[in-house]
Amino acid sequence: MSDNICPACCSANISQYEKSETITDFFGVERGIRLIEYSCADCGSTGDFFNENDDFIQAALNEIKKNEIVQMLEEFSANKVNFASAERALGLPQRTFAKWKSSDVTPNAAAVSLLKMVYRFPWLVEVADNKYNYLISQKIMIQNAVSSLIHLLSISNIYDSNAITVSDESSEGSLFFNATSGQQLSSGTTNITPSILMKSASPIGAQYANR
Ligand SMILES: [Zn+2]
Repeated sequence: MSDNICPACCSANISQYEKSETITDFFGVERGIRLIEYSCADCGSTGDFFNENDDFIQAALNEIKKNEIVQMLEEFSANKVNFASAERALGLPQRTFAKWKSSDVTPNAAAVSLLKMVYRFPWLVEVADNKYNYLISQKIMIQNAVSSLIHLLSISNIYDSNAITVSDESSEGSLFFNATSGQQLSSGTTNITPSILMKSASPIGAQYANR
């Protein structure tokens, strides 16, 4: 970079240093990106003097996207999702998922969004399979919402007859609430009440909410 000069004072007395940033992917995993910045010994300016980092960030985002797609599709396979029937229901060409999984074809942004929706709410495939019929779609959504809610909430009367246990699948354990006051009875990292959960205002509720 000896032929590069400081964009502020035109000094050639600049040095390069590495900087790292993190991007959180769809699965909540933090991915590090190594960026390059410069500092000028004469005027003290620092930053991405030659606009190189946009390319690094874009490359990292593409890599993250590719990994997300492969991981989602591998989980579909592990959960015995039939690719052919899902593709048919969603109106995608045959072997679309296989192509995405093998990274032969990088899906566009709309396709990635579709995949994320279906990953989060697998019953959307059933909605599509029923030609988006309004009443059937509502029924599928409600059935899944209720079963998610039943899964989340289980009545516990071991410690307190009014206590409700909210089991958090994300490994934070069980939280206890007084069913009448909604007051949390034991410690937990997520402060939610059944009523808040119903409104899907919490991260846990949102994960299962159908809006
Ligand atoms: Zn300078």
